[in-house]
This record gives sequence, C-alpha cells and structure tokens, in this order.
Amino acid sequence: MKVVEFQEGESFDIELEEDLLRKNEEIAEVNRRLLDKHGVMGIDVMGSIGSGKTTMIERLTNHLGKTANVGVVAGDLTTTIDAQKIEQQGASVVQVNTGKECHLDANLVGKALKTLPLEELDLLFTENVGNLICPAEFPLGAQKRLVVISVTEGPYMVVKHPYIFREADVVAINKVELAAAMKVDPEKLKADMARIDPRIKVVKTSLIADQGTAEVIEALGLATGMKSGA
Ligand code: MG
Ligand code: ZN
Repeated sequence: MKVVEFQEGESFDIELEEDLLRKNEEIAEVNRRLLDKHGVMGIDVMGSIGSGKTTMIERLTNHLGKTANVGVVAGDLTTTIDAQKIEQQGASVVQVNTGKECHLDANLVGKALKTLPLEELDLLFTENVGNLICPAEFPLGAQKRLVVISVTEGPYMVVKHPYIFREADVVAINKVELAAAMKVDPEKLKADMARIDPRIKVVKTSLIADQGTAEVIEALGLATGMKSGA
C-alpha cells in the first residue's frame, strides 16, 4: 500500500511552531512554580470527547473532597456544562473557553490560576479539551498527568495515539462494563500501553458506577489526606 508520510521540516510553519512550543514550555514552568509555592498538586486530565474526563474529576473530587480542598480548571471550546457539574461536587471551578483551539495551553491555564484561591487549595485538576493529539505537546505545568480512555474508542486507540501515553503517569481504561459488547479487550489496551511506556500505571474503571476511583487515587499517589493544616 502507498503511504504518504510527513517529513521533518516539511510543515509550512515549522519555525513558528517550535517557537510556540518553547514559549508554552516556559509558561508551564512558571505555572509549576506557582503551584509548588502554594503546595498545590496539579493533575492534568486528558482524553477524547466522551471518554469520561469530567466524570473522573467529579468522582475524584467526591472521594478526595473530605480530606483535600479541590480546585478545577475546566477547558472547553464554548460551554460551561462540565464546570457546572464539577462545581456541584464542592470544588472551586474556573472555566476556560478556548474558542476554536483544540487544546489548553500554559498561558490560558496561567490566567485561570490567577482567579483561583491557590493558598487554600491542595489539589488542582485541569480538564483539557477532548483530544488525544495536541495536548501531548502542550504541558500546562501540572505535576502529574492522567489520561482517561474508554473501551468505546475501539481496539486500536492506544497504538494510534502513542504520544499522549508517553506523557501519562496514570491511564484509566473507562467504561469497562461495555468491553464485551464493544469486543474490546482492556488487557490488550493495557499491553499496548506497556509497549509505549512500561512505567504507566493502568487502572480499569467503570466510573458510571464509581468503580475504580479508589485505585486511581492510589495510582496518583493521593491516597493519604492532604488538607492544609489538617
Ligand atoms: Mg468533559
Ligand atoms: Zn490542539
């Protein structure tokens, strides 16, 4: 079969893009220092549209809210649907609308951080725009990165999107209750990830039933209480 491949240096705006990525990394570093200074653990949540990112943040906030003050940056093109859901779990939420951009960048997150009471927070979840491609290239400053995938994305979703998994600390394979119906084997997805990076911690979840949330908390290293001054 004929395959047309992208060659390095072929993009029309390659210099512009390198400049942009470097600038983003600098601002991500500033964001990281700001989080560290206030003792906030930042967790970037990435994944496709409909994989369960918002539900994951809702569940984590519900479980961790008793022992930690939780803040959330909710990225979305135009709506506040997810932010409203998460706010009901008691988190301090700021919505970032990216307009036409298909990912959050460190500059937008930096602006969002300025609106949050960082001195009161212990944890900050950032829900990226639903996309498995460019969020991998734009670090936001978070200390940890959680990717939420779903068995409904089919059997080849991991091998087709290697970059995002290289950036992940923890991956949740969600909607495992649908695995048989979708003819997708979660163990095969797990094996695909291990080939990309054997250090990724993989957890199977059924977030609709709140199953696997405690294991995700454990994998993220958030199992012990962290409320400031508690
Ligand atoms: Mg969402
Ligand atoms: Zn993008």
